[in-house]
Amino acid sequence: MFEHYTTALEDWVSHFYKKQKMYSVQDLSIRKIARYYHIFVHQKPVPARHDIVHRYRGIIVDSRDPIEHQREQFFHELCHILRHCGHQSMMPEAFRELQEWDARHFTLYAALPYHMLRFYDFSDDLIIGTIAEDFKVTKELVSERLNRIYRNQKCTNTTADGTLWY
Ligand SMILES: [Zn+2]
Repeated sequence: MFEHYTTALEDWVSHFYKKQKMYSVQDLSIRKIARYYHIFVHQKPVPARHDIVHRYRGIIVDSRDPIEHQREQFFHELCHILRHCGHQSMMPEAFRELQEWDARHFTLYAALPYHMLRFYDFSDDLIIGTIAEDFKVTKELVSERLNRIYRNQKCTNTTADGTLWY
């Protein structure tokens, strides 16, 4: 297993999960996360969205989509609720794009937290399919997540002459 530099957002997500005693993929429960933040989750045949009305906070995931997509939609909308405020319709386009980018990042980290991934054998040829199945997310999300981990890994490979390079 190689070491890898974690980002602040990645650390924040893992810290939250550990505090909620979610250590492995079996513990990773959307219901539990939603309950903690007092968010109501509904499955409806409409595009995914979130609603904040006074003290009510809700997330709707699209029941017509496969469960993997619904899971990703949940984390995406959760990010908007937790990290963004205000209505995107009243926002300049550039700002809205920034929030979408942030939500995409957050989804990668929250759906596939590093402290749960680190026990997998990344050299296994079938790793993407295995992780996608275990975490109930799309293979696209898994491969984006793994690419990010590879990119941030600490280069402690030993070269032929035995010296460490960074
Ligand atoms: Zn969004």
